[in-house]
Amino acid sequence: MTDPDFHKDRFDAERFAELRKTIEQALGELGELHHPNFHRSAAPHLGDPRDLRFPTWSSQQLIDIIHAAACTEQFVAHPPDQIDFSGFLPVFTRLETLTKRGSEYGRVATVNLSSKRIFFGETAVGDEHSVSIPVQSTPFKVPILTVHSHPTSSTARDSYHFSAIDICSFLELSSLQFTVVVAEGLTLIAMRTDATPRYNDQVEERILKLRDSMRSSMAGDMTGDRAIRFTKDVCKMLNLTLYRIKHSDGSGVAKRVIN
Ligand SMILES: [Zn+2]
Repeated sequence: MTDPDFHKDRFDAERFAELRKTIEQALGELGELHHPNFHRSAAPHLGDPRDLRFPTWSSQQLIDIIHAAACTEQFVAHPPDQIDFSGFLPVFTRLETLTKRGSEYGRVATVNLSSKRIFFGETAVGDEHSVSIPVQSTPFKVPILTVHSHPTSSTARDSYHFSAIDICSFLELSSLQFTVVVAEGLTLIAMRTDATPRYNDQVEERILKLRDSMRSSMAGDMTGDRAIRFTKDVCKMLNLTLYRIKHSDGSGVAKRVIN
């Protein structure tokens, strides 16, 4: 016959060990949090993103650079011609699939400054014109990328753009390095650079003014070629580098379009 207390003891011991681990972890994080040089202590071997001059970024370099920018709060000054987003591609193409239902979907990615790992939050669903993506950050988990989808209305080409609101909400959250639009067959990526202005009322005004001037000069809604023109012009104006991934090539490599 087994002693009933034996199991109870073991259960308590396991629970105690678990509890101790949780407390130790929390204390460790608190300790780091109060370390005055936390950001510098988490800073990567790559150093200041403004000094980097890689002509292309591999998927590992992309993670290193995302981490470096999140730690130093500085952005690249020399954008590459190509970036390997293959690690992100499954998330992008999943949103493309969901969007066939007709609504916009969105997610945010954060980087953990201590482990350098990138996590995607839950998938938010909106309506056919917008989606609001809940963004949470802590001193350790910094939001670095938002992605949302544009459903195809009449033609897929109509959804290949960033709207003025897309750009404003990207710039408003100053830690974001990339904003991404996924459409049928294509992903568009805008990357913040060292020359991108900090967001304020004047910047917002310039973005809306550009949109309105294009609306009135071309008359009518911003769809198709007009929306693509706006996307290119707004990226030029704000020194955002624009990339695109063609889903048909399957590689997840983003090629530079402008800037
Ligand atoms: Zn949008």
